[in-house]
Amino acid sequence: MENQKEILISARDLCKEFKSNGRTVHAVNHINLDIYKGETLGLVGESGCGKSTFGNMLVHLHTPDGGEILYQGEEISHLKKKELKQMYRKIQIIFQDPYSSLDPKKTIGWLIEEPLRIHRVGADKQERAKLVQNMLEVVGMDESYLDKYPDELSGGQRQRVAIAIALILNPEFVVCDEAVSALDVSVQAQVLNLLKKLQKQFSLTYLFISHNLNVVSYMSDRIGIMYLGEIVELGDVKEISANPLHPYGRALFSASLGVGKSNDSRIVLQGDLPSPSNPPGGCPFHTRCFMATEKCSSVKPELQNLGNGHYCACHRVEECRKRAEAVCGLEKKEAVTGIA
Ligand code: SF4
Repeated sequence: MENQKEILISARDLCKEFKSNGRTVHAVNHINLDIYKGETLGLVGESGCGKSTFGNMLVHLHTPDGGEILYQGEEISHLKKKELKQMYRKIQIIFQDPYSSLDPKKTIGWLIEEPLRIHRVGADKQERAKLVQNMLEVVGMDESYLDKYPDELSGGQRQRVAIAIALILNPEFVVCDEAVSALDVSVQAQVLNLLKKLQKQFSLTYLFISHNLNVVSYMSDRIGIMYLGEIVELGDVKEISANPLHPYGRALFSASLGVGKSNDSRIVLQGDLPSPSNPPGGCPFHTRCFMATEKCSSVKPELQNLGNGHYCACHRVEECRKRAEAVCGLEKKEAVTGIA
């Protein structure tokens, strides 16, 4: 990639399969992706496209079936138990559902302290208690919550506790997997702003997974669009949210944001997501694509570098780009390399 920023974590040809009813589900299909230090990379796509499976592999909740995960250049997916434990102090996850991720029988103080006990951080109980109290303040809660139980808290407060648990070990990289999807819109905004503030305060790098394009566009520096286990478009958030080039991205954004209406009347996605156990040949999107040609059903498009950190997997990307430039008056970018 041409970007000179420091790469924190990389997926190299990463794959994950599951068995379901005797069939093989290709959840993540040969993904190559770099995440830069200090950025938020948003990952979007329909439910079942593999974005959570990808995030779960980065935090070692799933073991890859193929490929590598590099953390600052070191391969980490096959580390031994002790090294793995050390590595995963640096890598944490915040889940969607704070109702199920917090043990209802434990107090908030006990829950936030647990990672410190597991990793033997803090000389004694008093020191750990101080760290817990500080972290509670960091997420905007006071010490009166220490002895409360999860079911005494609101959804937003529970998600703040989940954030405190994720950050208590001072991680560098955090996967936020639908982290605000279970919250009311007004509470969502508060938690999103808290995540942004904490990113600056602790120099965090986020992978922000969501089906909500408004939320992802607000949070992210770059966006990756996933379809059937693959990245089909990747690039700067402003560029992609204003002018998604891949027909799938155009459909998602025209439906969700209204962005692109100037060059796309509302594009309605036809049909359901095909089964990942039996993905279509050729371009995986061809069964639903309003631009599909004969070539699309037999020849798989590569994820091509369009320059300026923008990547897209579509045989007709040049037509999409010309159309977007013509309608929106965009300046023509550097010559496209490797267009089919
Ligand atoms: Fe549509 Fe063909 Fe592009 Fe796939 S390669 S997104 S089917 S135009």
